[in-house]
Amino acid sequence: MNFYNLKHKEEQLSFKEATIKGQGKDKGLFFPEDISKFSPEFLKNLPNLSDEEIAYQVMKDFAGDEIPEAELRKIVAETIAFDIPLKKVTENISVLELFHGPTLAFKDVGARFMSRCLGYFLKNETRKVTVLVATSGDTGGAVANGFYDVEGIEVVILYPKNRVSPVQEKQLTALGKNIHALEVNGSFDDCQALVKQAFSDDSLTEKLLLTSANSINVSRWLPQQIYYVLALKQWLKNNSESPVICVPSGNFGNICAGILAHHRGLPVKHFIAACNVNDVVPEYLRTEILKPKETVATISNAMDVGDPSNFVRILELFDKEFNQVKNKLSGYTIDDEETLKTIKRVEKDYGYVLDPHGAVAFVALEKYLAENGGKGFFLETAHPVKFPDSVEKATGKSVEIPKSLEELMKQEKFTTEINPQYEELKEFLLKK
Ligand SMILES: *Cc1c(COP(=O)(O)O)cnc(C)c1O
Repeated sequence: MNFYNLKHKEEQLSFKEATIKGQGKDKGLFFPEDISKFSPEFLKNLPNLSDEEIAYQVMKDFAGDEIPEAELRKIVAETIAFDIPLKKVTENISVLELFHGPTLAFKDVGARFMSRCLGYFLKNETRKVTVLVATSGDTGGAVANGFYDVEGIEVVILYPKNRVSPVQEKQLTALGKNIHALEVNGSFDDCQALVKQAFSDDSLTEKLLLTSANSINVSRWLPQQIYYVLALKQWLKNNSESPVICVPSGNFGNICAGILAHHRGLPVKHFIAACNVNDVVPEYLRTEILKPKETVATISNAMDVGDPSNFVRILELFDKEFNQVKNKLSGYTIDDEETLKTIKRVEKDYGYVLDPHGAVAFVALEKYLAENGGKGFFLETAHPVKFPDSVEKATGKSVEIPKSLEELMKQEKFTTEINPQYEELKEFLLKK
């Protein structure tokens, strides 16, 4: 399928080209030129289909004319090769657990799909390929894991110094080999700005085949639809009513994929964007003014984004009609104090341990349902063990560390420190 640049509609690329290029002219995001509907049979049959079949059906219209069926089936099966269970937490609230992948966070899904697509597309490439990515926390680990030891592909990850958790930091700095971590003296927005600048620097991209693995990349963004459909498969077994879905949001790639699946026919009553105090989108929904802000550091740090890149795709899905957006999407702002209180309360009342991102989503959903009725689920995007300090502070209990993490935490950290100045990044990329 072709994808167009949201800033320059005339720039149209295939799925392969958009995957390799990451973003278009003037830092524009790519968007599918045609959004096919799911067939009524597919939706009716959902509870009887295998997860692999569902994943293939979700992705085939975007990638199926460029990746042969057998290959694409293999890629999607590997993408979702872990549990994605929907569990009941309270009478009206369920949780979709997206943290059973190798780095214990939902970004594993997008990163695994993307690394496998790139591997397929670049099989015969002779130049060195560099994947350049900015992370506010979990992207780095998921990308590092997805690309680790892939021949011919170098990965450079920028992360804000002291703003990611120890586990997150280890997941992106301990691998070594083709994975290079850059510790930036600045915020996630600084990291993202540096990456965007590299992509628009022709003098650099002449020498290196640069590609992004951020959630702006279509091959990371689109496969996130899969778990919304897998959630509905489980939901429909026990519910006749469509769910309200609440997504802890930072850069808005995840929720945008859910809204895309809904546009294709997936039954969803309403979406909720749950944010921490970085609340550009809830503010937009209140005022109709979309105004990027300085990033504020919080305990749900993967959502510390002051200028959410993917929101333009949501606007595109709703034809930029404010009333349409508002009809389908609500926003909530939850501060750290309420997040901690929620972790404590939910553990005490329901015996369920939330991570800070999931807690923001839980309480946002709870507020919405109290005002509007209905039932729904939220996405738990990371395992609580990734944020032990907050969870222990809230519950007074220690979080059990899985074996795989114990091993990781013992390993050495490899990083290079840079200032948020483009020249420093460029120098690193050219000499590497
Ligand atoms: C990245 C991330 C988010 C935010 O997802 P977006 O797609 O950027 O909105 C939420 N929770 C966790 C744990 C994350 O890693």
